Amino acid sequence: MITDFKNEGPTDFSDQRNYGAMLEAFKQVRNELGREYELIVDGRKLKGSDKFPSINPSDIDQVIGYIHSADLELAEQSMQAALKAFEEWKTVTPEIRARYLFKAAALMRKRKAELTATMVLENGKNWAEADGDVAEAIDFLDFYGTRALQLAERQPLTRFEGEDNDLYYIPLGVGVVISPWNFPLAILTGMTAGPLVMGNSLVIKPASTTPVIAYKFIEILQEAGIPDGVVNLVYGSGSTIGSYLVRHPKTRFINFTGSKEVGLFIIEEASKIQEGQKWIKKASVEMGGKNAIIIDREADLDAAVACVIASAFGFQGQKCSACSRAIIDANVYDYVSEQLVEKAKSIKIGPAEDYGNFMGPLIDQDAMDKVTSYIEIGKKEGKLLCGGNKLDKNGYYVEPTIFDGIKSGDRLGQEEIFGPVLSLLKAKDFDEALNIANDTVYGLTGSVYSNNWANLEKSRREFHVGNLYFNRKSTSALVGVHPFGGYNMSGTGAKAGGNDYLLLFSQAKAVSEEL
Ligand code: NAP
Ligand code: MG
Repeated sequence: MITDFKNEGPTDFSDQRNYGAMLEAFKQVRNELGREYELIVDGRKLKGSDKFPSINPSDIDQVIGYIHSADLELAEQSMQAALKAFEEWKTVTPEIRARYLFKAAALMRKRKAELTATMVLENGKNWAEADGDVAEAIDFLDFYGTRALQLAERQPLTRFEGEDNDLYYIPLGVGVVISPWNFPLAILTGMTAGPLVMGNSLVIKPASTTPVIAYKFIEILQEAGIPDGVVNLVYGSGSTIGSYLVRHPKTRFINFTGSKEVGLFIIEEASKIQEGQKWIKKASVEMGGKNAIIIDREADLDAAVACVIASAFGFQGQKCSACSRAIIDANVYDYVSEQLVEKAKSIKIGPAEDYGNFMGPLIDQDAMDKVTSYIEIGKKEGKLLCGGNKLDKNGYYVEPTIFDGIKSGDRLGQEEIFGPVLSLLKAKDFDEALNIANDTVYGLTGSVYSNNWANLEKSRREFHVGNLYFNRKSTSALVGVHPFGGYNMSGTGAKAGGNDYLLLFSQAKAVSEEL
């Protein structure tokens, strides 16, 4: 049994063996292209009422798979399966539940190259980013497994003469997991593993753009031996199947990560008491960001430039932690903006499968339309310094784009774009930079580049984000190392990969016996 947690390291693709293993994995995944993927309900594969394709955003003629989607009847069936399985699953000891997670982590490690290759093709992540996503998924399984073992130990209570007192954590019931496509394995795995190890059963509705990677995850859980019905996979549109499950009177909690619009909708729907409902639904919703990196006048400017580029354009800016505002001290503004433009122009962009490409495509046509419409808005609000164009390729490619002269109140200064669009904002001094950074409804990540100790201390107190970084990029949080989640409209405050996460999916029972 694993008792201490260690992060899964990145794969070194400069090692020919690892590089070769990836080429083999691409071959294997290519052999599976166009397969059908069914729903998994009560341990059985079920055909849906309809089918939709999952396509490769790097090459939109390539179908990754045809996905069976649920109608309301099938969604209901999955809820019933989860309700039935809960009765047994809640009695399984935490030690055994944790062991399933460790087993799944081990299986994932064995299939790492295949999962990475699947993600590169279905999600458009470059090799390194996809490899990191798989590593994070493995981490969530191991971390929540070890954490569940700690929570299963006797909890400290104040001694009271003449009584035997005990406190332990029991599950909530059936949860609905609704996951985003941008960390299609890591977030899905974390949002599933946490509630699962605490004894809840689940209905999972993954993002419609990354269903095949979700399927492989459920396959791994099945292989690890998770009993039938404990985890059910239903595909289908968020607005019909997702909201049906959210509204269901037997849903005890919802674990959601995605956009602010959908997250707030879920909070609202979950608060309406349905007929036959006898609890208050718990909704954990982790949402977007409008993250800033502050570059102080006293800072290693070249390091800052490199990290803004990585934070803004890594995975095409499609991370909730991505930097979309660089707030630069007026004294160093010209140098920093010139450097940023130079670096952005040198970024290699193309199919995610080609190892040399730093940037790949956006996830789908909607994402491309949204990003290009923001680029048009940016041209009115500020000045386009570089990028701004779609690429004439068979995928959803948009150049890394930088705007100058954006004001904090502009739409580009306020709204999450979720694409490779970076706005530069000028601040006259550090205090003004901090004010601009906090001038948002979000509060997810932020970075400060500064060698000024007092400015860093001030940021510790006043930069209001859930994940604050000094002299490093704003992305790449590690499980257990950087518990992740934001404030305000960025979410309800789950710290994924943190010690308290599992408590969100359990309730403490205090038992007192008079002796
Ligand atoms: P999204 O559009 O909100 O979708 C997320 C999930 O919700 C998908 O499974 C979607 O299904 C489903 N959904 C859509 N409408 C629904 C409804 N009415 N009721 C129930 N479920 C519904 O978000 P996304 O585009 O996948 O992800 C990007 C967003 O996630 C960004 O805003 C990003 O910042 C945020 N994010 C936040 C974090 C964090 O930890 N804070 C991490 C990652 C991403 P369909 O796919 O079928 O529409
Ligand atoms: Mg796709």
